[in-house]
Amino acid sequence: MEKQDQLLMKKQNKNLVLDIIKNKSPISRTEVAKVTGMSPTSITRIVSELHSQGFVRETELVTSGVGRKATLLDVCRDVLYTIGVEIDKLIIKIGIVDYVGEMAAWLSIPRDEAESYDETLMKVNRGMRDLIEKHQLPFEKIIGIGVGLPGSIDYMNGLVKVSDQLKWKHARLADDLKRLTGFDVIIDNELKMKVIAENFKGMARDSQNAVLVGIGSGIGAAIILNGEIYRGDSNNAGEIGHTVIDPTGNVCNCGKIGCLATYISEGAIIADSKKIKNIQSIDEVFAAYRKRDSWAINIMDRTTTYIALALSNILCLYNPEVIILSGDTIEKLPELKGEIERKCELYIWEPIKDTLKVVYSGLSNQGVVLGAALQVQNSLLDLD
Ligand SMILES: [Zn+2]
Repeated sequence: MEKQDQLLMKKQNKNLVLDIIKNKSPISRTEVAKVTGMSPTSITRIVSELHSQGFVRETELVTSGVGRKATLLDVCRDVLYTIGVEIDKLIIKIGIVDYVGEMAAWLSIPRDEAESYDETLMKVNRGMRDLIEKHQLPFEKIIGIGVGLPGSIDYMNGLVKVSDQLKWKHARLADDLKRLTGFDVIIDNELKMKVIAENFKGMARDSQNAVLVGIGSGIGAAIILNGEIYRGDSNNAGEIGHTVIDPTGNVCNCGKIGCLATYISEGAIIADSKKIKNIQSIDEVFAAYRKRDSWAINIMDRTTTYIALALSNILCLYNPEVIILSGDTIEKLPELKGEIERKCELYIWEPIKDTLKVVYSGLSNQGVVLGAALQVQNSLLDLD
């Protein structure tokens, strides 16, 4: 074996052992050896390395078998922290997450629709520093920042190609935020960050094939195929908002006619409502729906029909075991759930329907932040 390969294998083994301790703790060395198929000697060596690096600690003794004592292993949750950030049109959310994915600190700051790119970045930096100080978290244990935002994102190069919601174009977000904060920064589309959190501890926990759909100011999806995020060629896989569903329909802000987003997004709902009432916000539409105003019921009835159709199309394309619905529209108007389910019953193809689970995100408003912070661990943590 080449020296390079040996080093790589050593690194992979170390990652594997740490992953198992993290996911199955408390666990004994013997059990780790059994799960990995590695020799007890290798496990002892790797565990002692991880112990001296601060990742693993020994916990209580338990009796194993015939009166023998075994020491159990656990991970140290405060060995490192990562920062997750969500930047949305009207809000910035910041969370600091520990090594086992628990939120150690949380803050949300309003964002002005008209504020500049630099102003938003400054807010993120200030908010993050306030949070670290307030919770007295050790700076040197923070390994990086992950940012989730709406739009088409070149995650490899840390570039926001375009974000209609934030009105940003060709922004070198990762570099700019690194310069400002001093931390390494990774970025990605918000739903792709969120699906990581769903896969780690949410409704798609340990799922190999899952789809997360976000419905709010826009509509989009993030797809996990065979246990990994499916990105497509340019990280735009899942952008269902711009699938055309009616070539004679409404004009979309992307320049095309009849995109799905023009029937489902908050902006589209408000625009249609304005034809009848002097409506300024989505909350007013939802309030009218609750009051059973017929115009609001009709508009939302059309919306849920298009949501169900979109779900049915996604299901035929990817055949996931679970589809998670999330986003402001469903959180603000949970009454829609029953409507969507009833229409799914009509539109979803029989062979798929039997095994499929349609569920709702339980991560509330923290999903993107949590996923972004977890992705920092996945991408930036180097055990050497
Ligand atoms: Zn469009």
